[in-house]
Amino acid sequence: MAIDRVKLLERLFEITRGLSASVDAETYLQSIISAAAELTASETASLLEYDEVSQEFSFKFVPWFHRDAVKSAKVPLEGSAAGWIFLNVKPLAIDDVTKDSRHYSKIDDLVGFKTRSILGVPLILHGRPVGVFEAFNKKDKYTREDILVLETLASLATTALQNDMLEKNIFSSQEEARELDKLKNEFIAITSHELRTPLGLILGHATFLRELIGSEFHEQVEAIIRNASRLKEIIESLASVDNYETGGSLVRSRRVSVARIIEDVSASFHEMTKSKGISLKTEIKDGRELWVDIDGGKIAIVLSNLLKNALTFTNEGGHVLIRGEQQPEYIVVSVKDDGLGIPAKDLPRVFDRFYQVESHLTRRHGGMGLGLSVAKVMIEMHGGRIWAESQEGVGSTFTFLLPANKKNEPESPPPFVG
Ligand code: ADP
Repeated sequence: MAIDRVKLLERLFEITRGLSASVDAETYLQSIISAAAELTASETASLLEYDEVSQEFSFKFVPWFHRDAVKSAKVPLEGSAAGWIFLNVKPLAIDDVTKDSRHYSKIDDLVGFKTRSILGVPLILHGRPVGVFEAFNKKDKYTREDILVLETLASLATTALQNDMLEKNIFSSQEEARELDKLKNEFIAITSHELRTPLGLILGHATFLRELIGSEFHEQVEAIIRNASRLKEIIESLASVDNYETGGSLVRSRRVSVARIIEDVSASFHEMTKSKGISLKTEIKDGRELWVDIDGGKIAIVLSNLLKNALTFTNEGGHVLIRGEQQPEYIVVSVKDDGLGIPAKDLPRVFDRFYQVESHLTRRHGGMGLGLSVAKVMIEMHGGRIWAESQEGVGSTFTFLLPANKKNEPESPPPFVG
């Protein structure tokens, strides 16, 4: 019996919509199989997937009542209708299988089914056949319209299969990324822990030697101490990110003045500012002290990291401004420079651990890409937020908020601005 055209289109439309709405590929493909049988007025339908290695087809989707019987069944490429469709990449209609040698009858015996007629179309992915979609046993002859319907359903089935494959790939990539991240964290934790002790010894002994030896080797010992101290800083940075992630780091809050931290930190960069000829200014709105309960040591590290970057990535004669402001719920601190700026594509990633805009091979500045990730960790420990706004060639502004009252969590931060 021919199906009403409008009904047919409605069903196809409904199935097309199901592609994005359907929760799982399995259910969706099963519904495509039923629809293929229904819309071509066939007894049943099945979807065969081609395996390049064994050069055979296996049944990917069949009606549930045939599922167990065909679970391990294979259809050969040679001597089967599926093989012909696959190799010729063309639809095939066989109205009477007894008169056509291309029918592979072994599956009938296996399933207890009697194939009389077949309509099959290739499943095509990126221009290549990947399987075959077949309908069986229409009372009348298969028509041109049946071919179109089956081809439409075949292309929906291929898309659903591809979506499913991509989803599985994404899932396994995420799993892999999580595993790699775990390994990286373990590596950082172990390395920073193991490096601390020998480095402490080097520093201790070098400091001791400095007192003992004369001025002849003073410069060399100073170089040892300076570089060992630098290594210590790097290890501390690594450890502070790791400690936060493993819950090992504590915020020791005391009532401190953020205005004073701003002044102290900017004073500590006096030498660097002078040698680069950069104008460094501080501006505390209304001359407030900006009292707040925080771990002053950690916030000083945050500000140092931001200021060091601002001075590093600003050319001679540039300007850096640190601003502090009391708002009802937060203390807002920003570090603004008119330096190199950060390309829009890199901006969302600058707070990632080890991320640097320039690659390690081409970069002219030192650093390990840890300063901002440490800053972010420390601000978030305080229930605060930190973000960056920047324009390449114009400059950057890094801003952080600290809750003035700990019970008040800040709202979402403003979006990244390129
Ligand atoms: P590093 O210690 O290597 O500088 P950070 O985490 O502090 O690492 O910064 C990551 C990267 O972000 C830097 O390598 C730099 O490319 C970019 N960056 C940070 N601050 C600024 C800034 N004020 N101006 C331009 N680029 C910056």
